[in-house]
Amino acid sequence: MHILSKSTYIKGEQCVKALYLFKNRPFLRDKLSMEQRAKFKRGTDVGILAQQYFPEGINMTPSSPSQFGKKVAETMQNLSNPDINVMYEAVFQYDDTLIMLDIIVRDGDKWRAIEVKSSLSLSPTYYKDAALQYYVLKGCNVPISDIQLMYINADYVKNGELDLSQLFVFQSVKDYAEQYQEVISNNIANFKDIIKQPHSPKIPIGNQCDAPYRCEFHGHCWKDVPNEADKLYSIDYKPLYELLGDRNKTTAFLNLLFYRPAVPLFDGDKPYSEFIIAFSILSNNGSFDKIYNWSCLDDMSRWKESLSLLSEQLAGFERVICFAPQNITASLQKYDLMESKDLNYKILNFREVLQQSDFHHEKVKYDFSLKNVFESVFPNKTLFEHSRIILNAMSENVIERNLITNDLEQENRALRELYSHFAH
Ligand code: SF4
Repeated sequence: MHILSKSTYIKGEQCVKALYLFKNRPFLRDKLSMEQRAKFKRGTDVGILAQQYFPEGINMTPSSPSQFGKKVAETMQNLSNPDINVMYEAVFQYDDTLIMLDIIVRDGDKWRAIEVKSSLSLSPTYYKDAALQYYVLKGCNVPISDIQLMYINADYVKNGELDLSQLFVFQSVKDYAEQYQEVISNNIANFKDIIKQPHSPKIPIGNQCDAPYRCEFHGHCWKDVPNEADKLYSIDYKPLYELLGDRNKTTAFLNLLFYRPAVPLFDGDKPYSEFIIAFSILSNNGSFDKIYNWSCLDDMSRWKESLSLLSEQLAGFERVICFAPQNITASLQKYDLMESKDLNYKILNFREVLQQSDFHHEKVKYDFSLKNVFESVFPNKTLFEHSRIILNAMSENVIERNLITNDLEQENRALRELYSHFAH
């Protein structure tokens, strides 16, 4: 039975208290945010494509944690089987540390180890991940020709069938991993020792609580800190009113749902190219609300219809309010200047307006989302995370996909309430 895994090791590098709590008091974890779930899903999709790059491999994924021991033994047997050249999720264990390697490929009389990342660039954490994998592989006496990170090529442009040899790029991290071996060995010894202690280590809260990842014990460790989240927000009204301009214009509220697939879907697109997959418009004619919804979830090749529909549906309004993390007018201009130019000039990204007006509240410190702004202005109300919509939009289940329309409408109503609060 192992004591550490890649994820618990990385947790220990961030904060040994987080590692201790995870191993001894896992019930103290914060609930998994939708944002994190969406990231995990993206990672998985790219992982499957990476396997296709090295076809006909044996998938070693254990069906349950009780299978780890069996899979470790099978992995070692497969290494000496000349008929097996590729394994996915091969399981290795050394120094009480268990790893699952994304891909391992026979390379002459050695093996090439590959760790897959769904990102466009490599972070220091990825290098550390790979160094740990290398430590365990070496400990298991696997002859390694190279250990590489396989990630997405930012310059790839889809043209016809997906070209996996162009979509992915490789970076050798063997030299780095070699240099890091002693550090890993010492860390593992230290982590195993800490886990056995009767009490959690006394680590004060600090920058490590949010870097490189937001710690899942945030709620537990920060609960005794004077609750800044209960305080009122602050804002500078002078720039706010200047940015809002004439508040008597006929106004519509627009909630756009963008999709940024790691793997390009259409010819001419690069990885993470952004496009609109659904939108909801909310307006009021004086006595009742008018709602217009559109989506292309069942056939994303129709997405460009959104641009002419948006122009058409928003034509009668002098102002369009939205709340988006990106520069929305730049996004629309990118698609098709001719179709969206009459729309761009009247769009106001309320998120940018609030940021430029120095809106501040503890809740928005790490994530200036509609949910956090809304809940800091209206402390007795709640809004779901926007990622819920993204996850449902990507679901295989048509019922879940259909839920997004209602959610987009709800977000739009929250946006209108927020806007009315400041623009009254
Ligand atoms: S919240 Fe901060 S101090 Fe607490 S376990 Fe996490 S990283 Fe460590």
